[in-house]
Parts: sequence; structure tokens; C-alpha cells
Amino acid sequence: MNKNVLVLGAGVAGLQAALSLKELGYRVTILEKSSSAGGHLKDWDKLYPGNISSSGLIDNLISALDGTDILYNTTVTRSEKSDNGFITEISSGEKIDSGAIVIASGFSLFDARIKEEYGYGIYRRVITNADLEALFRSKEIHKMEMPAKVGFVHCVGSRDEKVCNRHCSKICCMTAVKQACEIKEIWPHADVYCFYMDLRMFGRGYEDLYYEAQSKFGVNFIRGRVSEAGEDKDGKVVVKAEDTLTSRPLKITLDLLVLMSGMVRNTDNKTISDVFGIPTGEDGFFFQPSPLINPTSSDSSGIYFAGSATGPKTVAESINEARAAALAVHKFLSKD
Ligand code: SF4
Repeated sequence: MNKNVLVLGAGVAGLQAALSLKELGYRVTILEKSSSAGGHLKDWDKLYPGNISSSGLIDNLISALDGTDILYNTTVTRSEKSDNGFITEISSGEKIDSGAIVIASGFSLFDARIKEEYGYGIYRRVITNADLEALFRSKEIHKMEMPAKVGFVHCVGSRDEKVCNRHCSKICCMTAVKQACEIKEIWPHADVYCFYMDLRMFGRGYEDLYYEAQSKFGVNFIRGRVSEAGEDKDGKVVVKAEDTLTSRPLKITLDLLVLMSGMVRNTDNKTISDVFGIPTGEDGFFFQPSPLINPTSSDSSGIYFAGSATGPKTVAESINEARAAALAVHKFLSKD
């Protein structure tokens, strides 16, 4: 049996898949295109539910993986099947022999500048969910002057035919409500508004968070899509929307506007797809032949998926899927 497994991606799914494989007795090599592990989570502050430290979660995984090779700044260039699995060439020119491959390439955050009407990259007071997490994480937020009004725009780059993303990103309603509550904890007297199309608080406890946001923190939820954001002479953000529950147009001046950028396919999926000959769907996420019964299986024997490589996932789902991918690899490599 070839006991080497190659994992693409050192985000939470790749790290967890590698750890589960290591615990099952496999030698794992992780390839990571950037210079550090942790993916998007290394830049995040707290995770819901449980207010878990995002970087703490990643640090624990990395420390449990002690002795596992993580090759940074490394991508795949070629791969071919061998009698014993795969021979994969990487960007350094080295060839890696493995019995199976786990693709945990994760996702990219939608580039909010594409939605020009919201003014990201143009107006100083328009930021993204990721920017806000960075402010929480660095504690820089505590040095800011209290904003009188803060707005959150849901579904930025998701559920939007205009940017060719029909899918729901799944996590951003929950993230917006979590961040709105955190803003109110820091500045209890700020008015906070969430502009949503419909709220998708689907997980256990998520509805309670939504309830708490209203009853404890007084967050205002306005059903309606923001049509545009502009800047007034004082540098504040003027938002136009329609409250679709009352059918009334709205114009609100905000001190801070947070755009909930959604999850889109990793920009590297095309290369990975070409190298391994596995297809992606129209949305650019990897195609799962059997998403209900075997969500970690690709249509190529010996190649498995973990995490958001196949579509938006929560952290918990990514971790569970990574464990499932490790078991699928174990079953595949044990069958001979
Ligand atoms: S989770 Fe909410 S904010 Fe995110 S895309 Fe879905 S509906 Fe929009």
C-alpha cells in the first residue's frame, strides 16, 4: 500500500484532513500556495458558535501536525497516474509520489470592488466583513471613534446574477449578525442596521443569535437590497435602499458600511482541474458526482475533496468533511 497522501491547501479543511490521515497512520505532504497556513481563518477573529478564537483553532491544528511536511509557496504543475497512485510535479520541480490526493483548495472572498455601486475601494468608510474581522483581531477597532450609525449589506457578490454568482454563500448572514452584535458590544449606543434580502440563519443556535441581536442589542433588520452608496461632504456614507416590507424608499447616512463579501471559487481551481483532469461546475467549484451520498468523492479514483473546494461551507462542515475525506482515503488505500 502507498501510505503517502498529498493534500492541496493548508486552510482548516486541508489541515484537518492531514491530521486525520496522520492519526490513521499515513505520511502526509501538504502543499500551500501562500506563505502561511490557515487560509482565511488566520485573518479572522472569533468564530460562531462558541466565540472560538480563529487563529487558536489553526494553531492547535498546526501544532498537532508536528512533523508533517507543509510546502509553502508551492503549487501543482503536472500529475499522472502511476501503478501505485499518483506522481505529482510541484512548482519547485520536485515530484511527489502519493497513493491518494485530497483537494482542499478552499474559496476566494468575492472582490467587493466589482460591485462598484457600493463604493468599496473608493470611499474610506466602506469596508468588508474581512476588513472588520481584521479590525477586531488587531484590536484597532477600539482606537476608532464611536460611529453613530453602522450598516451591513448582505449578499455582496452572492445570489447575484449580475456578477454570475447565483449561489448563497451560506455563512454571511450569520457573520453579519455576529459582527453586528460585536459592534454593539463595543459601542452600545451606535445604531446598527442589517440590509438583507432574506435571512438564512439555518444552523443550531443561529436563530437564537438573530433573536439576541434584536432583543438584547437592538440591531435593526431592514429587508431590502441597498441600491447604491455615495459619500457626503463630511465623508460619511449615504445609502439608498428600499424597505420591501413597507415598500418605502430609504436613505440613511452611515459612519461605517460593512459589505458581506461572499464565497466564490478559488481562483486556482481551474489549474487544479486541468492538472488532475477533474471537472468544475458552472460556478467554478469542483464537481461532485454524488454530493448527497459521497460528498468527498471526485469522479477520479483516488482523488477526494474536503471543505469549500466544492462550495460554501461553515467551519464545522469543513472540519467534518475533512475527517470524512480522510476516512474515504483510508478505505480506498486499504482495499487492496
Ligand atoms: S448567507 Fe445570507 S448574506 Fe450570505 S449569500 Fe446567503 S442570504 Fe446572502
